[in-house]
Amino acid sequence: MSDLPKISLPEFESTSLDLIPALVEELRASFNANRTKSVEFRKTQLKQLFYLVHDHADRFREALAQDLHKPAVEAWAFEISPAKDEIQRAIDSLDEWVKPEKPAGIPFFPFSIANKPVIRKEPKGVACVIGTWNYPLILCLKPLVGAIAAGCTAIIKPSEHAPKVGALLHELFPQYMDPMCYRVVLGHKEEAERLLQCEFDHIFYTGSAGVGKLIMKAAAEHLTPVTLELGGKSPAIVTRHADVALAAKRIAWAKFANAGQTCVAPDYVLVAKSIQNEFVAALEKVINEFYEGKPQESKEYGRIVNEAQWTRVAEILDKTEGHVVIGGNKDISDLYIEPTVVTDVAATDSLMESEIFGPILPIITVEDSAEAVKFVRENANHPLALYAFTGENKTEAEYILDNTLSGTAAINECMWQLAVPQLPFGGVRTSGHGTYVGKASFDTFSHHRSVVEQPKWMEYLVGLRYPGLPGGGYDH
Ligand code: NAD
Repeated sequence: MSDLPKISLPEFESTSLDLIPALVEELRASFNANRTKSVEFRKTQLKQLFYLVHDHADRFREALAQDLHKPAVEAWAFEISPAKDEIQRAIDSLDEWVKPEKPAGIPFFPFSIANKPVIRKEPKGVACVIGTWNYPLILCLKPLVGAIAAGCTAIIKPSEHAPKVGALLHELFPQYMDPMCYRVVLGHKEEAERLLQCEFDHIFYTGSAGVGKLIMKAAAEHLTPVTLELGGKSPAIVTRHADVALAAKRIAWAKFANAGQTCVAPDYVLVAKSIQNEFVAALEKVINEFYEGKPQESKEYGRIVNEAQWTRVAEILDKTEGHVVIGGNKDISDLYIEPTVVTDVAATDSLMESEIFGPILPIITVEDSAEAVKFVRENANHPLALYAFTGENKTEAEYILDNTLSGTAAINECMWQLAVPQLPFGGVRTSGHGTYVGKASFDTFSHHRSVVEQPKWMEYLVGLRYPGLPGGGYDH
């Protein structure tokens, strides 16, 4: 746990089922009354959200430590700091984002100028943001920033599996945010289902593909658009051109941060046969360096979120027919699973059945990048992320990108695509659809309304459309 002095945190208490529809109705009334429309109001609320995080950073750090044993440095680097940065960027950019777009005119096409075509950025309405537990703060707040910036009212439902963070958000929201416009609903499956019976104008969901399907079904009842941020088996490909030591360090960092419970963590590695031994030795070296040889005692290493997840991950490790070459120790009393590397893993192995979402790194050998590409296409067609360690060989990196499809990708790096704020983030098909982060979030919660106007004098031209040419029904 964290070294900081104990800080008191509220208890998680589910929102009453009867209250949920009433809250949604209240938010709809506020939206219909244009309460969230002005840019000034949106900026004020974004500033309030910034201070909600800033003023209580220590409490969020403690809540993350209690929910996930999240090391203080991870709480700061992956949750608190990026949440504040995202809010700040939205405040700084909002005047630009809300400007109506004027499409460039088309030469010799008179309507393209005379009709003054414009794309207005309209708030969609009442938004619902459903978050998951692995990054419980940022995965609720980042989409919410987009909803506020776009001028929507919004309900957020944090995950019940990170109860301290959820309860803290619930306590702080009425103190900082306009309660007529932004609310936190706490609860489990039942409360989530009640929420989804209500009519929203956009639903933003982060979590597993199984629940993602239920979200789409519920949204279909009201024809509500959805953004789905799901997971999947994200491969890392390490070719013979890679800087092996650097690849091992970056892959190990991404895989073992948050004890492997990261949607964009490399799920498994496809490594060129000729460098496998060198790669495994490099992994062993960095894992020892990261956690000083004692991960269970290290302040830098997290835990599995709860017993159910621990059991799931432990079982797939127990069933593997591969060779555990690094780690392998587990301790349910501490929800601990050691950073583990498994070699000689077959495509049919228990570790390859579904997303691992834990600190186990299977290694599969391939002859070359062509075989790696074939494996990805056959086994995990639409991962959320793909990582290609090809060293200085840019042709090989292009080849891998050209022949695979993933939500996002990085060359010679892992997870860094999320650190670049001008890049939209999102999955493709089974790893989700729709994007967010920065302007992409604003666009997700905005409707881009195309508008034209027709001057009276244009009747000389447009009058040609009427029946009974020439001149149609226009009275000269
Ligand atoms: P979870 O169990 O916390 O579920 C997510 C949310 O769905 C929770 O708020 C939960 O209350 C709600 N929920 C549960 N059952 C529901 C139902 N029947 N109807 C409506 N809502 C329901 O999280 P999880 O599903 O274990 O999430 C882990 C998955 O999330 C992994 O696959 C991971 O890759 C993915 N993930 C994706 C991203 C991303 O950005 N793409 C980020 C983090 C995690």
